[in-house]
Amino acid sequence: MTNLAGGKGANLGELVSFGIRVPPGFVITSKAYSFFLSYNNLHDRINDILNEDIPSSDASNKIKELIISSPIPKSLEETILSSYDDLASKIGKQILVAVRSSATAEDLENASFAGQQDTYLNVNRSELIQKVKMVWASLFNERAIEYRKSKGIDSTKVEIAVVVQKMVNSRSAGVMFTLHPGNGDRNFIVIESSWGLGESVVGGLVTPDEIVIEKSSLKIVEKKLSHKNLKFIYDSSAKSNKEIDISNSPEADQFSISDEEAIELAKFALKIEEHYGIPMDIEWAIDSDLKFPDDVFIVQARAETYWSSKKKVPQRSEGIEVAERKVLVKGLAASPGIASGVAKIILSSKESGRFKRGDILVTKMTDPDWVPLMKIASAIVTDEGGITSHAAIVSRELGIPAIVGTNEATKVIKDGEEITVDATRGIVYQGKIVEEEKIEEQKGSTGLSRDMVLSLYPVTATKIYMNLGQPDVIDKYLDLPFDGIGLMRIEFIVSEWIKRHPLYLIKIGKPEEFVDKLAEGVAKVATAIYPRPVVVRFSDFKTNEYRRLEGGEEYEPEERNPMLGWRGVSRYISPQYEPAFRLEVRAIRKAREEMGLKNVWVMFPFVRTESELKRAIHIMEDEGLRRTQDFKTWIMAEVPSVIILAERFARIVDGFSIGSNDLAQLTLGVDRDSEILGRMGYYDERDPAVLRSMKNLITAAHKYGATVSICGQAPSIYPEVAEYLVRSGIDSISVNPDAVISTRRSVASIEQKIMLEKLRK
Ligand code: PEP
Ligand code: MG
Repeated sequence: MTNLAGGKGANLGELVSFGIRVPPGFVITSKAYSFFLSYNNLHDRINDILNEDIPSSDASNKIKELIISSPIPKSLEETILSSYDDLASKIGKQILVAVRSSATAEDLENASFAGQQDTYLNVNRSELIQKVKMVWASLFNERAIEYRKSKGIDSTKVEIAVVVQKMVNSRSAGVMFTLHPGNGDRNFIVIESSWGLGESVVGGLVTPDEIVIEKSSLKIVEKKLSHKNLKFIYDSSAKSNKEIDISNSPEADQFSISDEEAIELAKFALKIEEHYGIPMDIEWAIDSDLKFPDDVFIVQARAETYWSSKKKVPQRSEGIEVAERKVLVKGLAASPGIASGVAKIILSSKESGRFKRGDILVTKMTDPDWVPLMKIASAIVTDEGGITSHAAIVSRELGIPAIVGTNEATKVIKDGEEITVDATRGIVYQGKIVEEEKIEEQKGSTGLSRDMVLSLYPVTATKIYMNLGQPDVIDKYLDLPFDGIGLMRIEFIVSEWIKRHPLYLIKIGKPEEFVDKLAEGVAKVATAIYPRPVVVRFSDFKTNEYRRLEGGEEYEPEERNPMLGWRGVSRYISPQYEPAFRLEVRAIRKAREEMGLKNVWVMFPFVRTESELKRAIHIMEDEGLRRTQDFKTWIMAEVPSVIILAERFARIVDGFSIGSNDLAQLTLGVDRDSEILGRMGYYDERDPAVLRSMKNLITAAHKYGATVSICGQAPSIYPEVAEYLVRSGIDSISVNPDAVISTRRSVASIEQKIMLEKLRK
C-alpha cells in the first residue's frame, strides 16, 4: 500500500495505512515498467544515450521520446485497461483518473525528486496508456539523470510504479481543522464546506458553510450557513476547471454538506490528528458518483498552518528584519522559508530519540536514513552539501526551510539553544525572531501553495518561462504556473533603482552602488522563485537611453541609428564601457555566490559576431564567473548572423533565446518602431523568413547540445508562433505574465496533438 504515496506532499499511502478513505484506484507496479523496458529492449538503448557525450537535457529528451514512442506489450495494456474498467464498473460509468508517479521503496532517495512527481489529472480511458508511459518517462527528467549521475546510481536499475486514482467528481469539498481556527481550542473540529471542487474554499473565493463538532462526543455544536456565490467544476470538453456563478441558484443558500457526512469526516479527522500528534489541516471531498459513506474522501492532510499564514507575517521575499541580530552561520539557501526553534545537534540518525517535533536539525549531512527526522523538523542546517545535496532536495520536497554547506554549523551552534533559520537569505541567527507561525510555501495573492497552483494547470514538456523586468512585481505573479524567468531585463533596475550611469558612478567613486542595487534587484526575483532559474540579461540600453541616466551625457555619443549602434556585446568589449560591464558581472556574482542564488544565469544581448562574444565571455570569466553545470550562459538570437553561424555559437554557449522583436526587424529590414511600416503590415514575426530562421536555429543548436528558448513578444501574442516552435522542438518559451496560463494550456494541447499524430503514424 505504501506505493500509494506517490505525489509530493500527498501522503495518501500513509493515510490509507491507518484506515483513512482516499479516492479508489490501483497501482501499476514497477514490474510492469521493467517488463515494458525488456519487451522493447530499452535497457541498452537508454544506456547508450546516457553514455553519449551530450548534455543531460538532451539525453533526457531522447530517452523520454524513446519511452513514449515504444509500444506497450499487449498483455500489459489489457491488464491496465481492465483494472481501469473494474474501477469504472464499480462506479457504474466512465471515470476520469489521476495518474501519478510513485517511487518504489528501493528508490527512496530518488523519491525526493521533483522530477519524479509527474502527475496527470483528468485522464480518460483512451489517454491512460499514453499517460502511464509519460510518467515512466519522467524517471528520466533532466534533474533526475544529473542527480543519479552525480551519485553513481545506475539509471537503468531505478524503477517506478504508477498510481491510478479516480478523480473525485466533487459535489462538495473543503477543508477541516482539528482545532478551532478562531480561538485555537483543541476540543473542536471545524469543517468548512462549499459546492464543487475544493479550490473555492482553499483559495478563499467563497465564504464556506461552517460546522463545528465537539471531539469528545462527535456531536455537532454549531452550524453556519453561508451564501455561496460560485463553484468550480471540471469541464470535460474544455479539459479544465471552470468557475460557475451560482449566486442566484437555490444551492447558494443550502448547506453543502449533510450532518452525517460531517460526522464521517470528523471521525477521519480524529484518526489523522492522533496519527500525526499535532493539529492538522485536512482537505476533503464528497464524490457524487458514489453513495454514502463511500463517497467521503480525504484528499490531503498536513500540519495546520493555514490560519497562521493568514496572520500578518513577513513575506518570504522580504525576509525578516535583520538589524541587531547575531549571525551564527551562513550557508546556501537550499529550501526557502523562515523558522525559529530549538537547535539539536544530531550527528547520527541513531540519536533521533532526543529530537522533538518542531526542533531544528543541525547536522553534517543527511542521507535517506534521516528522512523520518527531517519530516518532523521545523528547519534543517547542515555543514556540508550544495543545492542539490540530499538535505537540500528533501527539504524542498518537504517544504522545510533548509540551509546547507555552512561548514561549521555543528561547531558554532550550541545544542539546545534557540535559533532562527532564515533560509531565504541563507543565514542562521541567534534567538527567536519569528512568531510561532511558520512561513508557508511560496504564496501569491490567492494564498494557494505552489503545488496546488501547479496542479491546476497541465504539465508541459516544453518549459514555460515568464519575462520580467521590475523586481517588485514578482510577488504579484507568484501564483502563475511558470518554470522560471526566461528573460529578466535589467534596464528597469538601472533606470528606476540606480538611476545613474555606471561610468559616472565609477567616476565619483561609488561603483558599489551599482553592484549592490543590481544584485539586490536580481536577488529579489531569484529568491522569490527559487530554485527555478532566472535568466538575467546583461544591459541592452541603446545610447539614447543610456544618455538619459544621470551623468550619461558625458559617456554616450549621439548616434544616428542607436538601434543598430553601440549596443549589446559591442559595448562590453569596448575600452570605454568595459569597466561598467565588469560591474554588471560582479552583481551577478554577488547574487550567486554571496547570496547563494545559484539559480541566476546570464544572457548576452545583441550578439553579432563570434569573436566579440568570446572576448565578452573572457571578461566575464576574468571576473570569476565561469560556465558550469549550474551556471548557464545564454545568448540572444536577434541578429541573423547568429542564426547563420548557429553551429559555431552553439559550441561556446549553453543556450540561445530568440529575440523575435529584433530578429524580425533585422531579418526583414523593418524598423520595429516604424509606425508606417507597422501599419502596412511589414513588421510581422510570423513572416516565413523569420519562422524559418527560428527553426534553423533550433536544429543547429540541438546538434551541439545547446538549448533554445524564445523571449521576444511573438509567442505571447501569436499562439500559432508558439505552436510552430513547439513543433520545431524548442526547449522553452518565455512569455509576458498575462500570457503564462494561456501559453501553458496551448503548449500542452499542441504537445498532446503531436504525440497523437505520431501514434497514428
Ligand atoms: C527581442 O529583441 O525580442 C527582445 C526580447 O529584446 P528587446 O525587446 O529588449 O530588444
Ligand atoms: Mg532585442
